[in-house]
Order: sequence, then structure tokens, then C-alpha cells
Amino acid sequence: MTGDERSFDLVIIGSGPGGYVAAIRGAQLGMRVACVEREKLGGVCLNIGCIPTKALLTSASFVQEMRRSESHGVVFENATVSLGPAQERSRKAADQLNRGVGHLFKKNGVSHLQGIGRLLGEGKVEVEGAGGEKAVYRADHVVIATGSRPRDLPMLKIDEGKIWSSTGALFQKEAPKSLAVVGAGAVGMEFADIYSAYGSEVHVIEMLDRVLPLEDKESSAAVARSYKKRKIRILTSTTVQASEVSDAGVKLNLKDKDGKEEVLEVERVLSAVGRVPNTEGLGLDTAGVRLTERGGFIQVDRYLRTNVEGVYAIGDVAGPPLLAHKASHEGIVCVEHLAGEGHGTVDYSNIPNCTYAHPEVASVGLTEEQAEAEGLDFEVGKFPWVGNGRAVASGDTEGFIKVIRDRRYSEILGAHIVGPHATELIAEFVIGRHLESTVEELEKAMHPHPTLSEGVAEGALAALGRAIHV
Ligand code: FAD
Repeated sequence: MTGDERSFDLVIIGSGPGGYVAAIRGAQLGMRVACVEREKLGGVCLNIGCIPTKALLTSASFVQEMRRSESHGVVFENATVSLGPAQERSRKAADQLNRGVGHLFKKNGVSHLQGIGRLLGEGKVEVEGAGGEKAVYRADHVVIATGSRPRDLPMLKIDEGKIWSSTGALFQKEAPKSLAVVGAGAVGMEFADIYSAYGSEVHVIEMLDRVLPLEDKESSAAVARSYKKRKIRILTSTTVQASEVSDAGVKLNLKDKDGKEEVLEVERVLSAVGRVPNTEGLGLDTAGVRLTERGGFIQVDRYLRTNVEGVYAIGDVAGPPLLAHKASHEGIVCVEHLAGEGHGTVDYSNIPNCTYAHPEVASVGLTEEQAEAEGLDFEVGKFPWVGNGRAVASGDTEGFIKVIRDRRYSEILGAHIVGPHATELIAEFVIGRHLESTVEELEKAMHPHPTLSEGVAEGALAALGRAIHV
């Protein structure tokens, strides 16, 4: 490369859904853009996060549907279930998408720099290749999009052999006889679903008093009930005190909030207790970039600017919620702003939260508990799926749509869905809130029959105290 080729308008470190989307947007705006990546393009999300988990959940859903195949007139004899082919299928989906990012880079003229990126200060970025060779690039703007990695608890050290992180859990060819999932957030609950479908006896251990603790209480309760019906054991208000790995598996010492202790012996453990930002070895000290006191994320303002001129941070490394769509939105806002092309900011109050297990869970806006804590004057409506024709026809009537509306202006304060295609349906509420629609407007928009989307209109009607089919 010549000196000139080593000079860019924008260098992005990290190619996850934050980094690669920011890179493409920068190129669309006419910038010379490079994206540094030390592993495969696409980051956690495409390679070891969102996509392969969703592929496995699709397989798990298929396995569960097969258990009621007789009701569809299909009888299998000697049917077997094995995780291996599903795992291979999940890798194909991930590989297809990470190759897709490479094609998008080529199409948009984004330079992909393979290696470890590091800030040298004064608009310089060093990239170290696999063989240790180093090159220095100049950039008017540098965006840090280095993401996050699994949190490792001292009393439950991840070894990816018997104690897995989410990454270890994605690369198994066989389901263990028994699995303890520590942490009942979205990641833990999704893997509990997958491994239970493939025959593992699953125990979910959660320190807080309910599963999916960020969701509305009613959603958490509905999911816990559903999992228990499938013989997944749920232990809430319970912590892991110690763990011991042996040839047979892992012994966990558990303690609940009343001090009651239990020794749980399982073949494998999945530690899904959150993630920490990738800020080490990036030269943040050299460049003088400030971190947040809580969590050690990179501190940014509403345009994703750090305290150092010309240096920005987006996605997981810039703080919660650690979600792919939040990372991509931040990437676009950041790049449009630095290009002087946009005046928008990320609407952090309208970020959908999704868990793609069975039943699916999705939400946006305030929970009922939050609306109460804020002292708002609100009304809650709940529409059960059993009142929806399409859900009944599909045999998928577990769960509900819950809508929280502000009594005075009928603003959609929050929406919570448990049940079929919840993660798709939530988008109606996201758009409604984005356009500042009232609950009445959601209901007045005609929904096709028979569809699950009619449940959205019924949820809106329920919040007005006049649902039809319940
Ligand atoms: P990342 O995707 O973490 O990408 C960062 C990239 O930077 C990585 O490729 C890394 O190799 C690279 N990098 C780091 N340091 C350097 C360096 N110094 N030099 C060069 N490259 C570097 N979110 C959702 O919204 N929906 C989901 O369904 C979902 N499912 C998930 C399932 C699992 C199992 C996990 C673990 C996460 C899931 N997430 C999901 C979260 C989602 O994956 C993250 O929020 C998202 O990937 C964050 O994007 P990012 O661009 O900030 O960083």
C-alpha cells in the first residue's frame, strides 16, 4: 500500500452489526472507509450470536412440532433426534451471512483490513496482522465498534469443555444428559429451550427473582410456567456459590435467598451471566478515551462521540442494551453525524427487546412496573392468544399481547407479547410509538383476517377496555 492508500476518511475497528453497518453507510455518503477486523466479518451477532442461535431455535421448534405430528396426520416410526445436523446447519447460516458482509464491503468499496486494530492517537490506527506485521493508517474519524465478550465468574470459570460460554454451547454435536444454565436472560433462556428440545434435562439458575428479569413481570411468569410444563427446572433467587469440575461433569453448590443449599450435579454448565466490553489493548489510554465508571464501557454522547475529537464508539462497547439493532442504529447515527448529513439521534426509549425461545417474548417501552414507578396515569389491556383465530388454527395459543396506554393522550407507553411470532409482531408497536400513534390509531388500521396481527389490534382494544374476542 502507498502512503495515500493508507489514508482514510473513516476507519472502523470491529465489523459486527455496529461496525459493518457504519462502514457501509460511510461509503454511501462518499467517504473512503476501512474496517479492521481480527476475526471473521460480521462480529458476534452473525458468527456466534444472533444468527446461529436463531438457526438452532428453528431446529428446536421443528423438533417440538414433530412431537405433535400425529395431530397433523404424520406418524414417524423410529424417529431420532440429534443435535449434530442442527449445529452444522447453524454454521452454514452464519457462514453465508459473514460471506455476505464481505460482498457488501466489495460492492460499496469498503476496504477490509484483517488484523487487530489499535489507536495510536492523533488520527492514527495501527493494524497488526496474524503474523505480527504492523501497518499504520491515517483517519479523519475513527469509530470503535469492538463489541463485547462473555462475563466469566470467578466461582464458575468458563473452560468451553464442561463449563461453556454461549460460544461453547453453539459448537456442540451432542446434547448432554443434563445441563445447568446459569443466568435466565435472553441468551440463557434460548439455550435452555434448544437443549431441552434435544433431550437434555435442563436446570435454569437465576440470581434474581424471575426469568427474563428485564421483561414485564407477567411475561416472565408466563415463560416460567411454559418452561416448567416442558420439565425445564427453574430455580430463581438462587446463586452459584462454587463449582467443581470432575470426569463425570460439574458439581454446583447453590444457595437460595432463604439460605437453603443444594448440590446440583450435571454433565455440562452454560454460564450466561452477561457480557463485558472489549476495551483492552485498543490504545484507549494512549488516545485518552474515557470509560464509564459503571461497567467500563466507552463513554459517548448522543452522537456517539467520545471525549477525544475524531474518536467515536458504537454498539456493545458503548454500553447497554447489548443488542444488534441498537449497535446498527448507533452506527448510522454516528456516521451521518460525523459526515454532517444527519441530525437524528438514537431513540433509546423505543428499542425492542426480544427472546426467540418458545414461547417467544418481545417488548418495547415501559413495563407495567415501570409505569407504576413513574406515577403515570395508565391503563393496561391484555388479549390472550386463545381469542385469535389464526393462533387457534395453528395450535399455538400460549401467551398474550399486553398493551399499556397513557389514559390522557392514549399514547402507547409499552407493549409486551408472549407467544407465536412475538418478535415479528412487536415491530407494529415500535412503528406506532415512533410515529407517536395513539392506541386508537393502531386499532383503526385494518389488520388482515385471520392473522396473528389481529392480536395487535385486539391488544389495543383491550387497553381501551373493549376487546372483541375475549
Ligand atoms: P460485535 O458483534 O461484538 O463485533 C465486534 C467485532 O469487533 C468482533 O468481530 C471482534 O472480533 C472485533 N474486534 C474486537 N476488538 C478488535 C480489535 N482490536 N481489532 C479488530 N477487531 C476487533 N442481539 C440481538 O439484537 N438479537 C439477538 O437475537 C441476539 N442474540 C444473541 C445471542 C448470543 C448467543 C449472543 C452472545 C449475543 C446475542 N445478541 C443478540 C447480542 C449481539 O450479538 C450484540 O449486541 C452485537 O453483536 C453487538 O454488535 P457490535 O457491532 O457492537 O459488536
